[in-house]
Amino acid sequence: MKPRRLPELHIEGYKEMSITQGPKEFLKPKSVFIPLSIPNGVVFKKEIGDHVLLGEAIMEVEGRFKYPILSPVSGTIKGKVKKWHPSNKLVDMIEIENDFKEEKVDTFLNLKPDEMTREELINVMMMTGLVGMGGAGFPAYVKYSTKEKVDMVIINLAECEPFITCDYTCVLYNAQELIYGFRYLLKAAGCNHGVIAIKDKDINNIVIEMLKPLLDSNMEIRLLRDVYPAGWERYTVETISGRTYKNLPIEAGVIVSNASTCYSFAETLKYGIPPSKKYLTITGDAIVKPGNVIAKIGTQINDLIPLFGGIKEGIDISNINLIAGGPMTGKSMFFQDFVTTHTLGAAIFLVNKSKGKIHPECLGCGRCTDYCPSFLSPFEIRRELKVGNLEELKLLGVTKCIQCGLCSFVCPSRIELTEAVGKAKDMVLKLGRK
Ligand code: SF4
Ligand code: SF4
Repeated sequence: MKPRRLPELHIEGYKEMSITQGPKEFLKPKSVFIPLSIPNGVVFKKEIGDHVLLGEAIMEVEGRFKYPILSPVSGTIKGKVKKWHPSNKLVDMIEIENDFKEEKVDTFLNLKPDEMTREELINVMMMTGLVGMGGAGFPAYVKYSTKEKVDMVIINLAECEPFITCDYTCVLYNAQELIYGFRYLLKAAGCNHGVIAIKDKDINNIVIEMLKPLLDSNMEIRLLRDVYPAGWERYTVETISGRTYKNLPIEAGVIVSNASTCYSFAETLKYGIPPSKKYLTITGDAIVKPGNVIAKIGTQINDLIPLFGGIKEGIDISNINLIAGGPMTGKSMFFQDFVTTHTLGAAIFLVNKSKGKIHPECLGCGRCTDYCPSFLSPFEIRRELKVGNLEELKLLGVTKCIQCGLCSFVCPSRIELTEAVGKAKDMVLKLGRK
């Protein structure tokens, strides 16, 4: 089957806003907060009051794919507190008070990846709880321990949502580490062909030119069209490999990893530092000097805002639309004191200019259908959801929705279509499980 052609939609990127200055550092938070509310549940491995090292397992994720969650700092486990999560939910988190000593576990020191087998590299991914940092946070060791033949590993550097430049910044300032990590991701996949997928746009030229001389002979850079959602895994795989698949990229012989995940793997292999920090974009027209920061996982966003000059004078906090993640797939947040996670890429502070301009009714323009990359009809799905017609929702293919946010974005009436389709999808999936 030939890959489908994605509807052409170039979205204004607003990326220049956050790359005019080098990244800041925030690696010494007083405390970090680790969510206990992970879908399959966790087993807490420590007691309140215990001392932990950076990289020590504090809990283990339950379910089919078990993996540890490590402490991003050395310090003391203070207790359980309620904190805002980037999903805009108030959840239980473990607070670890930082002792600022950065004492780390010695498990990953002096690794010699050249001498390690594929299985040993995958074991490092598992023991460090390495998860995909660009999307759903799927454990990396599960992808790489496949028994299927892998003939291509793609580093996804598309970063296709507007405003976000954290992967771009991560690679710009750590190009050698990216290639180093990529070398061993290829080894872990038992594969000899690596592709770095990046969008064909002017601001990416610097990164591309930096990477080119560093590439190993089995690596190449391939360009994606500057459209949204070019970084969607299915689109990236189909465009780069020319192959389609039904459920997972591995069916097409491909593994995809995000650029920040690759960098994090390199940090472990090269310096013995397990995943404990991440680049993050703090941006939007309400911020004085937007930019990027490398921060410990579990840091409160509130602590990062002053690094960027804070909120512009004269802007009423109640008139800011704060988004955790990108404007297409992220969540609107009630409060600024939410906590960073392995997968969070940005906090975007936008001045709300839409007051009084919303038409709540569908105009029947069809834009939501024209632009849906999964070829769905969001306005029909919303209509059938309102009357609870589950059979029709199934026929409309709601489960193919990738929650990209495009339908809401292009709708002239600003109807929350993504949310409606998401609800419909959950209902149909629940019904299927019964
Ligand atoms: S959120 Fe779902 S329905 Fe809306 S455009 Fe994206 S894939 Fe289509
Ligand atoms: S884009 Fe909005 S107004 Fe146009 S058909 Fe879809 S729901 Fe209706």
